[in-house]
Amino acid sequence: MAQVRWPRVMLKLSGEAMAGGRGLGFDVAAIDAIAREVGEAKATGAEIAIMVGGGNIMRGARTAEADRDRSAADSIGMLATVQNGLALQEALERQGHDTRLQSAITMSAVAEPFIRRRAIRHLEKGRIVILSAGTGNPYFSTDTAAALRALEVRAQAVLKATNVDGIYDRDPHKHPDARRYRRLTYDQCIEQRLGVMDLTAFTLCAENDLPVVVFDLGAPGNVRRAVLGEDVGTVVGREP
Ligand code: UDP
Repeated sequence: MAQVRWPRVMLKLSGEAMAGGRGLGFDVAAIDAIAREVGEAKATGAEIAIMVGGGNIMRGARTAEADRDRSAADSIGMLATVQNGLALQEALERQGHDTRLQSAITMSAVAEPFIRRRAIRHLEKGRIVILSAGTGNPYFSTDTAAALRALEVRAQAVLKATNVDGIYDRDPHKHPDARRYRRLTYDQCIEQRLGVMDLTAFTLCAENDLPVVVFDLGAPGNVRRAVLGEDVGTVVGREP
């Protein structure tokens, strides 16, 4: 077993990642590629839980802006994450991995309910645990759900997969000389207003000393490297 930095991780996958370059819906090739990345990370011996987002199908806050009821829109968003969870489970199982899908909204025909102890047991048995339906409550995000469940299952870090290779002092798409931070403290992120996650999610991590690794999912091998603690993206934690 390779030397892993985080023996149990909570990988946060956005819904957009499931859509490949299309932004909306599913891209089977992109989902297969994510499954391969997860499989490589699993091969290090680390235990892997995944929180899936739903932004490729529905984001509740946007619908609320269009004068729709936020709670209803958020329920649709949470159900969207179950669809993503099922798609990812299918891809992982096809590649020979043992997985379990849990949902924070009871949906026993397609997913187990989220039961903390059961999730931990699955992880201990080497299963990849996919968590869906976020927290099960409206007005939250799957980033917050990732932080919450990471604490509940005692993961050592949240690995936040994004489309930039970490946190920069300026927008790297606009400023070619923007510098990537390799490490940041929670306080530095707050002082410099660096948007790592939404504030609810970020506060939960900071208050409970849960490190967040922000990294680019697009670079092959990055999930594995993040698990191993190699220099990918930016690690946000208490220590500088
Ligand atoms: N959502 C929710 N409660 C949760 C998690 C998610 O209501 O605990 C809803 C919310 O509408 C959100 C949508 O599900 O916009 C999809 O999740 P998110 O936007 O976090 O997905 P991502 O941006 O990661 O794809």
